Amino acid sequence: MRIPAPPVILGGLTLLVGAAVLSTLYLGNPLGQPIRTMAWTAAAEQGAVRVVSAGAAIEPAPLAEFSQRHLTDLQGWLGIAPRPVTVALFADRSAYAAYGKAEIPGFHPRMDFCYSPAEQAVVGYRTGDRDLQARLRHELFHHLSASRPVRLPLWLEEGTAELIEGLAPGPDGALVLSAVQTEHLRTAARAVHRQGDVAIQAVLSGGRKALAADAKGYYAMGYALALHLYERGELGSAVATGLVQPDLTAFRAFVSDQDRWTASISRPLPVVSVATR
Ligand SMILES: [Zn+2]
Repeated sequence: MRIPAPPVILGGLTLLVGAAVLSTLYLGNPLGQPIRTMAWTAAAEQGAVRVVSAGAAIEPAPLAEFSQRHLTDLQGWLGIAPRPVTVALFADRSAYAAYGKAEIPGFHPRMDFCYSPAEQAVVGYRTGDRDLQARLRHELFHHLSASRPVRLPLWLEEGTAELIEGLAPGPDGALVLSAVQTEHLRTAARAVHRQGDVAIQAVLSGGRKALAADAKGYYAMGYALALHLYERGELGSAVATGLVQPDLTAFRAFVSDQDRWTASISRPLPVVSVATR
């Protein structure tokens, strides 16, 4: 019999809410059976990344290559050298959910990809290639972030992870935003329209409780705030220091103006250097 350890904060989980993919940090004990001791049927390594899969028609080598390239891109932006990470993929959503229910306390069927700092592992399942790449980008940011002494406010951690799903190297190799999540922005704009600063402050200061109360709204606002920081060229320093006081007046103007949502796309991300432990 397995006796669950006391709850500790582990990392990011992704929630599926309707069509929107949201991620959340979760409380739970370390995964019951260590990922490294589970039986996997395929594996590949590239740099700091080891990809394993169980019974899935997954080519691990290209995923390992993609993940390592993404970590290298983020290292170029943030100056954080990646520690080893395991990406463990189940055959499909139901196999992943069966695992999650058995091994992750408080697992909810809507949760998908998660990052476990305890195991330095991204755990998920096979999905469409584009979705899979977005999820890996998101969770691998949590992996890099978890290796630093700086703890980001939850809205900034998740907002940046959401934003990073749309980051890719441009023609000259610099990281640029290639897509924005307009559903998030519409959700945030509606909340600001209805409640003004109250809606923004609820996310800025609400932490985990605010996230649990309204995950979709929380991720949407966190994302919109991160995109606004990106637009102002301030995202890198915010992520570097964890210290950021969003200008609410400027943010309200930004989130209420659809034309500005995509205006900052393809602007290179200034390189910043972040201290690591
Ligand atoms: Zn996340």
